[in-house]
Parts: sequence; C-alpha cells; structure tokens
Amino acid sequence: MFFSTLRSMTQSRLQNKFILFFVVLACVPVLVLGGITLYVLNLAHQHEVSNLELQVIGEKSEEIKKFFSDTLGVLELYVDSGSIEAIQGDKNSWQEAFTDGMLASNPNFVEVSFVNSDGTEAARKSRFQAGEFIPLDVSETPYFQKARQGGTFIGEVYDTLSGPMITMAAPVRADTAIIQVVVAEVSLSALLRLIESSSFGVSGYVVLIDRNGRMIAQRARGAMEPGFDALQWNRVSSVLKGGVLTGLEAHDRYESMFGAGPVVGAGKYISEVGWAVFVEWPIKDADASIQEVRNQVILVTLASILCVLLFAPLFASRLVRPIRELEMRAKEVEKGNLETKVAIQTGDELEDLGKAFNTMVQGLKRLQELKEEFVFVAAHELRTPVTVIKGYASMLLEGDAGPLTKKVKAFLSGVQEANQRLLQLVEDLLEVARSEAGRIAIEVKDIDIREPIQGAVNELSQLARKKAMSVTYEPSDTAHVLADERRVKEIMINLVGNAIKYTPEKGRVRVFHELRDKELITHIEDNGYGIPQEAQSKIFEKFYRVQSPETRDITGTGLGLFIVKQLVEKMHGTIWFKSKQGKGTTFSFSLPLAS
Ligand code: ADP
Repeated sequence: MFFSTLRSMTQSRLQNKFILFFVVLACVPVLVLGGITLYVLNLAHQHEVSNLELQVIGEKSEEIKKFFSDTLGVLELYVDSGSIEAIQGDKNSWQEAFTDGMLASNPNFVEVSFVNSDGTEAARKSRFQAGEFIPLDVSETPYFQKARQGGTFIGEVYDTLSGPMITMAAPVRADTAIIQVVVAEVSLSALLRLIESSSFGVSGYVVLIDRNGRMIAQRARGAMEPGFDALQWNRVSSVLKGGVLTGLEAHDRYESMFGAGPVVGAGKYISEVGWAVFVEWPIKDADASIQEVRNQVILVTLASILCVLLFAPLFASRLVRPIRELEMRAKEVEKGNLETKVAIQTGDELEDLGKAFNTMVQGLKRLQELKEEFVFVAAHELRTPVTVIKGYASMLLEGDAGPLTKKVKAFLSGVQEANQRLLQLVEDLLEVARSEAGRIAIEVKDIDIREPIQGAVNELSQLARKKAMSVTYEPSDTAHVLADERRVKEIMINLVGNAIKYTPEKGRVRVFHELRDKELITHIEDNGYGIPQEAQSKIFEKFYRVQSPETRDITGTGLGLFIVKQLVEKMHGTIWFKSKQGKGTTFSFSLPLAS
C-alpha cells in the first residue's frame, strides 16, 4: 500500500501538490515549535547556570568577608581608661600575655605585635621564631599610619615559605583615644584551601584574584604561566573595577585561561578586600543536563517530521484516489466503454461529481444507441435500392434490354463499379452497426480452418492476378479450431484483400500458421507499403485510413479492420500486426484450438 502510494507519487501531480501542502502545513509548525522549545529551554538553562554561579560567588564572598571581619574583630582591642596607666607602665607582661593569647586563639595568626603610638614596637611574638625582641620603628609603614588614625588595615597578599600571608592592623582604643596599634601577620592558607577545594557541578571551580590582578587561589593554579598578569585579561580588569559578570552574556562563554577548555564564567568584586571572585564551569559539564533534554526535543521534532513524511503520501493518496478513479473512467469512456461507472463514496462534492459523471455516461450511451440505431436503419434502408441498382445494371450490361453501344456500356460499367463500392460501404456500415449493438451473429463450432482460408484465397486470386501478385497459403496439419466458418472467411477476405490492396504490383502475399499453447495463429504476410509508425496505434479504429502518398488513391471505407477485430474477439481470439514502412506488414490473429 505504502510503496504503491510512493510509486504513484511521481505520477500524480495533484498528489504531489497535496503532499507538499501537508508537509509544509505540518512540518513548519513542528519546526517552529521545536525551535521555540529549544530556545526557551536554552534561556532557562542559561539562567539556571548563571544563578548557580552567582550563588557560589555569593557564598565564597561571604566566607572571605567573614574571615576578615572575624580576624579584625580579634585585633581591634578596647581597653578601659583605668588600665591605661598599667598598659603604658608595665609594658612587657601585659602585651606579651595578649600576643600569646592571640596566637593561641587564632591558628591563622603567625606573628602579632603591639606598636606604641609613636611608631615603636612595644611587643612582638611569632608563632615559629622565638628570639630576643628588638623593637623596630614602624612609624612610616602604611599599616601603622592607617591604624593609628583609627582605620583597620588589610594589606597585600605575599608569599612565604609557609604559604600566602597578609598583614592586618587595627587600633587599640581606650575610650575614644587610640593608644596603640596591633599588627598581625595572618596566614591565608586555611582560607585559600577552603576556596580551592570548593567546587560545583562536576568540574566547576572558584578563582580568587587580588586587587593587583594576582591569582591567589585556583585549583588549576599550575596551568597559569608564572608571572602572568591577569589584569591584562578584560574580564579580570572589568570585575576589579567593580563590574559584575553574570555568566549570561555571550562573552561569558569562552576558552578558559586555566586550560579547562570552553567554560561559562561569572565574576564579582568584593569591595571590602578589593579582591575578585570568579567561577568557571566547563560548558560540557554545565550543559550536560540540558543536552539530554535538547536531544529529546530534537528527537521528538525529527520523529514528528518523519511521521508527517510517512503519512502525508498516504493521506494525499486517499484524497486523490477518487479523482484518479474519475480520470481512469473518463479514459475508458474515451476508448468507447460506456458501461463504465465510478463508485465514489466520500460523502462530499467528489461523490456528487462521481454521480454527475455516471449520469453523463448514461446520456452518452443513450446518444450512442440512437446513433447506432440511425446508422443501422439508414444502411438497412439503403441496401435494397443499391442491390436493385446492381441487379438492373448487370442485366443491362448482359444485354437483357437489347444491344448497347460501346459508350453506353462504358458509362454503365462506371455506374456498376461505383454502385459496388456503395454496396460495400452499406454492408460495412450494417456490420459495424450490428457489432456495436452486439447483434453480430456468430456460431462457434469445431471447424477446419483450412477451408474458409482456401476459399478466401481462391476468391481473391483474380484480384491478385490483375496485379501480377502471388498469394500462397501454407496449410498446417493441426487445423481444427473453435470458430464460425463464415466469419473466418470474412476475416480472411478482409486481411488478404488488404494485403493485396496495399502491396504494389508483382508483390507477394503469404498465409501460414503457427501453433502456440492452445491456439492456432494465422499470419497474413505481405511485402507491401507497410503502415507508418505514427498510424499504427489507430489502425483498428472506425473509419481510420492511412493518408500516405502510396495509399491515398486506393479506395476503402476504413471499417474493415474494425469489423475484423470485433469478429476475432467475439470468437475469443486476439489480433495484432507488425509493420515496417516500405518493407511490408504481417497481420496475425489467434483462435482457440478445438481439441
Ligand atoms: P480500408 O477499407 O481503408 O482498407 P481497413 O480498416 O481495412 O480499411 O484498413 C484501414 C487502413 O489500414 C487502410 O486504409 C490502410 O491504410 C491500412 N492497412 C490495412 N492493411 C494494410 C496492409 N496489409 N498494408 C498496409 N496498410 C494496411
């Protein structure tokens, strides 16, 4: 069913148009819908990725801020005014106790020192180096100056053998007055480990960059060129200026600086410390969840299109089927079959059209019958007077009415010849009318085909002799067929007569048989003018005559072959021919064998 539909696709233009119509009508919305779904999914996913990245950045920023506020909280000391004397008097014991306490309370403190308001150190204690305390003058340092004025100081990150460190300083207040400054060298190792170990998704990671564009924490640190200045990277410099990268823009998808391949990245500035937190998420990992949904949407879209492509031809074929049936029936009517009928049951205008077609064919049939009736009656009525004329002309020529002059005889011969042609036409017309009305009387029985053939050949021998032609018959041993002897002779008179008529003088006609399955085939072969290729399809039509220069002057009605075909088919045989212009023609007909 499906393949026959496909085969007919190329043959039916209307069906192709329907298919195109259905495909366009169905595929365009499917494609648009698929496209919109993918677009919306993508957008939602990008927001999801961005939200997650910004959330991670937010959490990390909070952790960093907390680290510094906690540390500064420990450093900022308040002393009540009653103790000022003690602090300034008994320097060592008080401050040493504080530095020890600080080192003990916060494992990140590596060194803690107290500086007097004039800039000289009052005490210094290091977690690792114990030694003699030599007070230094730090009055020129930025941390002292900042803390001395009441501010808190967070320095630059610097590397030591025991890891990255930072200098922090805060004032020591007594009531509102700043009496000293506490300075601490703080190890960032714990904080940076925390940042470096944090990940999201399967492979997303966090990068921390300080205000000078120096990367201070990143899992893939080794992938960076030593001495690389991240400030030359636009993303870093723009975030350090206070910008925010959301991970939503096109430029937020890029090739990672840290060798992680294509990533989707976001970044934010932490104003409290002047650092920037970046996150990068390899796209392959970030998009893994959407990829599956995306594939499903594409699959469903493709499957829908495939369904349309499969069903459109079937659907179109259903629509076109009644029209094709009408076309087929119309062709049958054209061939002369007025018994044909269409049976369209679609319950719509096509069914009405089918009914109208059937009514029209009925009308044509009635007209045909009227015409046949007319031809039959006219031919029948003509036959009597034409036969009478023939009889009287013969009698006159034979001298029944007395001797005739040569001139009268010549005129009378002309009359007789023309009358003979008229009689032949009337006879042919009668036969055609009978055949069309199904009134050809045929009596099929077991006959020896050689007899009617020989009879026809004998009858035409005089005609052949006039053209100095040879007509030979090669009878076969198997000669019993089921046929009407009188009709076989009529067929042979027509076919051999044509062979003689359409062959130039001194030509030859050969009649012979062939046995094939359960049939006896009779061939009538001539070496005459032949039938032009373009005329061959119409040769059995009523009144059709070839108009070639050689045959134009040969008289005939164009009804002979039509009648012959009807007769052969009535006797359950078939007729065909092979012909080559200028070489000759072979007409052949088959009849069923009697045995
Ligand atoms: P007609 O009365 O014209 O012979 P037919 O029906 O017998 O009518 O033949 C139709 C046409 O077929 C002829 O006009 C002729 O042109 C062609 N024809 C028939 N038989 C032959 C033949 N043996 N050789 C060439 N042309 C032939």
